[in-house]
Amino acid sequence: MNLLMIRPLTMCGDLMRIAALTGILVMFGILGAQAAEKRVAAEEPDGSLSAGFAEVDITPPEGWRHGGGYGEVISTGVHDSLRAKAMVLSQGGKTFILVMNDLLSVPEGLTTPARKRIAANLNTSVDNVVIAATHNHGSPEYWGPLRDIFHARELRLQEEDRHERIDYTRLLTDRWEKAVGEAERRRVEVDASIVVAEQLGLAQNRRFHMRDGSVRFNPGKLNPNIIRPAGPVDTDLPFLLFQKVSSRRTAGVSGGGAVIGALSIFAMHTAVFGGTEFGADFPGVLQANLQKHFGPDFISVFAEGTAGDINHIRARSEKPNPDSIEIGETLAGAILENLPQRRPVDEPDLAVLAATVRAPYRQPAVTEDRYLEAKKIIENQLSNGAAFLTLVAAWRDCHHYEYRLKFPDGKPLEVQAVRLNRDSALVFLPHEIFVELGMAIKASSPFRNTLVVSLSNDVDFYIPTRRAFEEGSYEITTCSLAPGCGELLVETALTLLTSLK
Ligand SMILES: [Zn+2]
Repeated sequence: MNLLMIRPLTMCGDLMRIAALTGILVMFGILGAQAAEKRVAAEEPDGSLSAGFAEVDITPPEGWRHGGGYGEVISTGVHDSLRAKAMVLSQGGKTFILVMNDLLSVPEGLTTPARKRIAANLNTSVDNVVIAATHNHGSPEYWGPLRDIFHARELRLQEEDRHERIDYTRLLTDRWEKAVGEAERRRVEVDASIVVAEQLGLAQNRRFHMRDGSVRFNPGKLNPNIIRPAGPVDTDLPFLLFQKVSSRRTAGVSGGGAVIGALSIFAMHTAVFGGTEFGADFPGVLQANLQKHFGPDFISVFAEGTAGDINHIRARSEKPNPDSIEIGETLAGAILENLPQRRPVDEPDLAVLAATVRAPYRQPAVTEDRYLEAKKIIENQLSNGAAFLTLVAAWRDCHHYEYRLKFPDGKPLEVQAVRLNRDSALVFLPHEIFVELGMAIKASSPFRNTLVVSLSNDVDFYIPTRRAFEEGSYEITTCSLAPGCGELLVETALTLLTSLK
């Protein structure tokens, strides 16, 4: 049984370190046998860092189903376009590729073949490719149990699905490939720099201890039964900036216009915009505001940090909740204000390590009878009046049943870690991760700056902490996995980071 695969991706190539990494992961106990495999042969020892950015439109046609909830909502138009943005980094023959989408989520079944195509095009390993989503709730419902159930009903009733007039998953994979190809063509020698701004006052932990002893998510604004938040917020707003070398030398470090793109990360749900139109929410506003400073060709790649239990709702304040414009402008303002404090990512040393661990499922296993019942609960939700958590549990059990069929030995969870230099690293995690887990990775990482991105390559449920599993409420109801899955991701990420250091 191959429960754990460790994949040293770049010329890290130090077999001793790989062996140590393998040993540490085996100690998790929850895992078991493992295989270490060296995917990429030794490359040139160094070389300058280069980067390329590109973006493509991925807005679905009007009339597509709108995602972000548990019912069927039909979109009524396009407020602003949805984008997929590609960032390609390269040094000494080593490559790292990130494709970020203005989507709610991207599923493993779609990203795995797409990553293979992209990796083959750039002659690299699939493990050096991340396809992720900003968790944009102003985006289409295009995969998963809800889509499948409503799509099947439409086909039964109409013989064609009026809400899916194009092959959207094909559009996505084609455009991802196009964006990466364009970013690769535009790739130029760069200087990277990083600043971690502190963003106070926007992110709120949305889980609360209540007077009746329970923990509730989103209990309602000014609910008198709130005692205190059940968890922290992460105020880090890292900004990783790439500036053309030639332009920088002529224009000076602080000169605008030479910056080609950047990655920023904030741990707060991209679920602000609301309504039934498609739109990129605050990451779109952030890009528009940063372009005012860096120029119209600048591409802002925004990634959601570990924001499973974090949103923008000021539950304990009479102050109105911020809207997507206020949030995008505030984030841009904090980034630009802190820009002079950025530090160069000097002596870049790009390397990537990845590991896939298998997490056990929650008990009991979902039977076929329950699976069929769960599908009916979702399909007939307008007539059966199912309560919210009944609907969420039905949705989870559809996933749970389908996952067990596909992955009977446990759900694969892939973690990728990217070293930029001795001080800075990135971590990419699947699913919606509770904030404390991301903060635990940062706190114990051997790197000064550790940037943690969620919703990478796969997502459909929340990954709570062990403590939150005991507390219950919405996020825990969504999760198909057993308690400990979050801590497993933390341990895996830290092991990869330690090995990269
Ligand atoms: Zn979410």
